[in-house]
Amino acid sequence: MVHSIPTGDMRMQKIREILRMTSCSTLKYGKNQYFKVEQNDVCRKFFIEIVLGISESTVCRAKLNLLSSATSPVPRKQTHASRGRICVGFIQAYVEATCDRDPTGTVYRMPTSLTKLDLFNLYDIVHQENSLHKSMFYEILKKRFSNVIFSKKQRYTKCKECNEFRELISAEKNVELKKEIIMLRDLHLREQQMEREAYYVRRAQAEMRPGEFLSVILDGMDQKKTNLPYYTHDNNPVGSGQHKLRTHITGSIVHGRGKYFFLDCNQYPHDTNLVLSCLLKLLVKESREGQLPPTLFVQLDNTCRENKNKFFLGMMAFLVKKRFVREVWISFLIVGHTHEDVDQCFSRISMKMRNRNTLTLNELHSVIQSSQRPVPESTDVGTVWNMSAWLNDYVNQIHNVTYPKLYRYNFYSFCH
Ligand SMILES: [Zn+2]
Repeated sequence: MVHSIPTGDMRMQKIREILRMTSCSTLKYGKNQYFKVEQNDVCRKFFIEIVLGISESTVCRAKLNLLSSATSPVPRKQTHASRGRICVGFIQAYVEATCDRDPTGTVYRMPTSLTKLDLFNLYDIVHQENSLHKSMFYEILKKRFSNVIFSKKQRYTKCKECNEFRELISAEKNVELKKEIIMLRDLHLREQQMEREAYYVRRAQAEMRPGEFLSVILDGMDQKKTNLPYYTHDNNPVGSGQHKLRTHITGSIVHGRGKYFFLDCNQYPHDTNLVLSCLLKLLVKESREGQLPPTLFVQLDNTCRENKNKFFLGMMAFLVKKRFVREVWISFLIVGHTHEDVDQCFSRISMKMRNRNTLTLNELHSVIQSSQRPVPESTDVGTVWNMSAWLNDYVNQIHNVTYPKLYRYNFYSFCH
């Protein structure tokens, strides 16, 4: 029997098939390889030259092909690549949800409580069926996420809990206890992720539907950076380090509308009255023909001293009761994690100050105005109303304020 070998693409495939089906174990016959042809064993030379009618080199190529396809199947390579893509997607999503962005906006910082190994372990748990080797995971981190930083020290964020978790995890020797602390740490990070996502949604709602929503974030800038007069380092006259005028900037972004900065010289205590005064002033500016959008989102630091107290909540309830707005959502963001957009604004101001001397309050206003686009509104605080004294007789004491992160007042549940 002589096999007919097709030409073209099918040729190699057919030869491989024949070799696989007809060859006998070489061990059985010592050195020589035999092939089965119609129940007879024939030698290699006979098989190749007479039965197949092809050259030795063609057989060698076919065999090499057979071996390589047996050891490294093509689908495995594809799976590997797709697992890589899944991993990239996982890290990307995690970075966006969890990382704190540097004020410059180019570098992402992982929470200090999280190491590379933690992130790998998390991936391993979530993607058991698509698991990757640790070295491969690290390689992807290095190549694709070079702008993500894992560091032990916090630079811009000040999350106390993240710091404590890191220290506790590294100090704990008991495996079970360590697991529990890691679970608590993950819970904290998940909470932070969800909070950040919810904030982005509110922000986007206000940007896309400005007639229905108004979203405001308010925060104070680090005071040391804007004390006056401010000299750049290479132009520092003798005595310039003493008797500085201490200034304080309260910054706010009204998403999709504009930015406001309020300056004071520490003549007012930095308390609820100051925050409320700034907030009310910008609400007046944002009202169109005396009318605000029906829903107001206010985002603030989760600090009881300035923001999270009965006076602030009482004033927001007053806005609803008097029908300035129909609904107010007050979100308290975890300190040290979530407010990269305001921090970015503050960072632009301090970067601008590095380039030139800022000696007077007016110069500070113009630095603020020229530090970013669109041009923000920068004014002196002017009046601070003593709202806590005014509200004191009308608001009840509130308890256990630390845990709740969102308060919502709406007119329908509030008609009396
Ligand atoms: Zn944290």
